[in-house]
Amino acid sequence: MASELKRWQIGDVKVTRVVEQVAPLPAEQLLANVEKARLAQHAAWLVPHFMNDAGEILLSIHALVVESAGKTIVVDTCMGNDRQLPQGMGPFETQFLEELETVVKREQVDYVMCTHLHFDHVGWNTMLVDGEFVPTFPNARYLFGRVEYEHWSTGPEDENIDFTHGVKPVVDAGLHELVESTHRITDEIILEPTPGHTPGHVSVKIESKRARAVITGDMVHHPVQLAEPGWSSHPDFQAERAIDTRKDFVARYGDTDVLVIGTHFAGPSAGKIIKDGDSCRLECD
Ligand SMILES: [Zn+2]
Repeated sequence: MASELKRWQIGDVKVTRVVEQVAPLPAEQLLANVEKARLAQHAAWLVPHFMNDAGEILLSIHALVVESAGKTIVVDTCMGNDRQLPQGMGPFETQFLEELETVVKREQVDYVMCTHLHFDHVGWNTMLVDGEFVPTFPNARYLFGRVEYEHWSTGPEDENIDFTHGVKPVVDAGLHELVESTHRITDEIILEPTPGHTPGHVSVKIESKRARAVITGDMVHHPVQLAEPGWSSHPDFQAERAIDTRKDFVARYGDTDVLVIGTHFAGPSAGKIIKDGDSCRLECD
């Protein structure tokens, strides 16, 4: 499963992708209202990075290490090892942590930023030591969106939430901090509210020396949803709100110089949104 690290430079900010897993899956397994004929029309720009020749879509689970103003921020922490996960997944035994530590040592991470609290974004918040899940990044502040945390910590059970392994040990250790959806982590790294996938979902904007990028989180799972924002992801908590968020996102960033870095985009994982008539595509270098 080991993959090459991918890096981007955005002004003075460095972003490094560390992959946990990449998997092909039938489009309908992720996208609630996908139209196969329309999906095939997008094959010209989706294959080979985002869709394979068999017509399956490709999804990556990765963390993004952001280095800005002397701080190291890990954005989303994948699924983690040694735990039974929702939807019958796991336990996994990947080399993710070893790969991450070729980029930054655990002890040197300043912030962990979870775009939302689904299990595939909080996993490596913790690791199993002597039979107990403990924070992986002992010197980090773990930033959780206030709206997001308050919703899931008081709300009903949800099949995509794994508080027990990924969140509670961090809170018990006093390492978490609740932040607003427009929080500024450094002068160059600012949160942007993108609700719908979950109630308090945020994306992460990077602005440095007139270069710009945005880390999507799960407001879009697959690049085809930039062209087809009405195709919901099954786990979207508020589907209509998520559709509106995707439409706004494409309107805001389409035909701009903003590098869109997808949290689940496979292959190059990043590109620019090019509008194309009433549709658009992600153009990668
Ligand atoms: Zn996800």
